[in-house]
Amino acid sequence: MTALLEVEDLKVAYGKIEAVKGISFSVEAGQIVTLIGTNGAGKTTTLRTLSGLLKPAAGHITFDGKPLGAVPAHKIVALGLAHSPEGRHIFPRLTITENLQLGAFLRTDKAGIEKDIQRAYELFPILGERRKQAAGTLSGGEQQMLAMGRALMSQPKLLMLDEPSMGLSPIMMQKIMQTIVELKAEGTTILLVEQNAQAALSLADQGHVMEIGKIVLSGSGDDLLHDESVRKAYLGED
Ligand code: ATP
Repeated sequence: MTALLEVEDLKVAYGKIEAVKGISFSVEAGQIVTLIGTNGAGKTTTLRTLSGLLKPAAGHITFDGKPLGAVPAHKIVALGLAHSPEGRHIFPRLTITENLQLGAFLRTDKAGIEKDIQRAYELFPILGERRKQAAGTLSGGEQQMLAMGRALMSQPKLLMLDEPSMGLSPIMMQKIMQTIVELKAEGTTILLVEQNAQAALSLADQGHVMEIGKIVLSGSGDDLLHDESVRKAYLGED
């Protein structure tokens, strides 16, 4: 079986600064794969490249059997790859419902869109309760939920989540992690970027540790969770 996403020797540079220095990994359909690593390791750069916002300097990206190299961002969404970005990027003046509708901008199936909006309210009841309010009035954690809900509105084959736990209370974080597991159970494939290595590895099928633009260690979530070097560097153990 070929993987849903195949990344081969990907390099990405900002001018002369090479932020991603030749990484390779794949994501099988139905899996949760996580990229962990410290600030500046290149995780966000990798996701932004996969969604077409940055152009690779070298390497190959194959998604659902198609090369992504020169495909523009809006066409990448249409192929089934959705991105819930770091820092959320919701539209603060639009209502919660309007933000969700924007996530479905490529769809024309009105009944299906309405069904998926209801589904987002089931996943995150607070969004339903406040559906008519401006999204900017939501707390940081709630905006994170909205960003995830919006990404799901494109019915992606692969959902990329950039630091969904950032700035969240432990309870909110648990809720987001639980939702990720639910989405997987429903068949969504997920590429998860996290600084919270413990949480990410606990639910990932596969994990990759990034350091200054390279993948330095790969394994099952469970193996990495028990790896001594990972525990020391990322899980705060001596
Ligand atoms: P974080 O969790 O802090 O976002 P990250 O692993 O996602 O870290 P990136 O944001 O991908 O890391 O950054 C990788 C490297 O690229 C860093 O050295 C960063 O300073 C650099 N970088 C990121 N964005 C730009 C930019 N727009 N221009 C120049 N350098 C950049």
